[in-house]
Amino acid sequence: MKAITVMPGKADSTALVDIPEPEITDIPHGRGVRVRVLRVGLDGTDKEIKAGEYGAVPDGSDFLVQGHEGFGQVVEVGPSVVEFSPGDYVVARVRRAGMSLHDQIDTPDMTTDNVYLEHGISRVHGFLTEYYVEEPRYLIKIPPTLKEVAVLLEPTSVAEKGIIQAYEIQRRLKVWHPSRAAVLGAGTIGLLATMALRNRGLQVTTFGLDEPPYLNSELVEALGAHYVSTKQTGLEDFAATDGMFDLVFEATGFSPIVFEAMHSLLNKNAVLVLSSVTGGDRRVEVPADKINLDFVLGNKVMVGTVNANREHFEAGVRDLAMAEAQWPGWLSRLLTHRVDGLTGCLEAFEHLAAPGNIKVYVEVASA
Ligand code: BGC
Ligand code: ZN
Repeated sequence: MKAITVMPGKADSTALVDIPEPEITDIPHGRGVRVRVLRVGLDGTDKEIKAGEYGAVPDGSDFLVQGHEGFGQVVEVGPSVVEFSPGDYVVARVRRAGMSLHDQIDTPDMTTDNVYLEHGISRVHGFLTEYYVEEPRYLIKIPPTLKEVAVLLEPTSVAEKGIIQAYEIQRRLKVWHPSRAAVLGAGTIGLLATMALRNRGLQVTTFGLDEPPYLNSELVEALGAHYVSTKQTGLEDFAATDGMFDLVFEATGFSPIVFEAMHSLLNKNAVLVLSSVTGGDRRVEVPADKINLDFVLGNKVMVGTVNANREHFEAGVRDLAMAEAQWPGWLSRLLTHRVDGLTGCLEAFEHLAAPGNIKVYVEVASA
């Protein structure tokens, strides 16, 4: 079968090749689920892997199958699988269990292992292929009503984890009724975080670089959230006139903004969630005493978040369903660029950074 593979560490080694089909018996004890890949979304991580900056091969393989934002349909189940039947739509979790205690309790997103296992990213093949075989515990069932937008579930799960972690942390306060949230970044994760926060009833201000109106600012406003261009109004100026926030979700990919957010956006007792994976080595000067003093005197908290476990994928399914009901067509507007078939995939990477694109995805097969 066809697959898009890469030699991690080697720039532009991404290629369309033939690889053996997986067998249902690859998973022991009759617990295999064979999935036909329908759609795969691409993001900055895939681009970094293609550029040779990130990624690792599975043990015993000299290539990695790319793609971690999958959506597919079950075509066959092993004799001991009761959770799924052929025809079910599914999205697979990205991270697999490693060794630490967190991995053993099915929260590999919180692993303390130094190496982690992620489909299409690190040591496990991804979904840019025709079929994969997986254990039921790593699959999330998708209602057929969400099949047109379920390729957005993986990035949604990343936003959900950040928000759910913030609420978990705020249990330290005994009572927490957040009303104002800020999202930094209006890309895919920023838009999905805005949607999930609006579903939770918060007033949301989403900050992006570009001046409105454009697609992303319109998508923010369509949710009843407020879009602010940081080219027009800086974070500090905005907060000085409009007020600060109880929850701030950072998803810009630009690390200096974190320190600006730390000292200009947070109400007392607020929580700042960091979700950008920033591979560079940028340095900035910061008002260290002021930031520290504000955090101490204001009982503020900052938390990093990566990946997602089952709870977050399931929260994502609920939020996607709520979004479809409340703002019909909104999620589909995020699917800005479709590429047909794995053969078109190499070209898809070119569109990732193109202006006007939010989610670029590959239509691997039709249902
Ligand atoms: C993926 C996450 C993953 C992270 C780090 C992101 O692009 O969506 O699932 O944990 O990269 O590898
Ligand atoms: Zn990703």
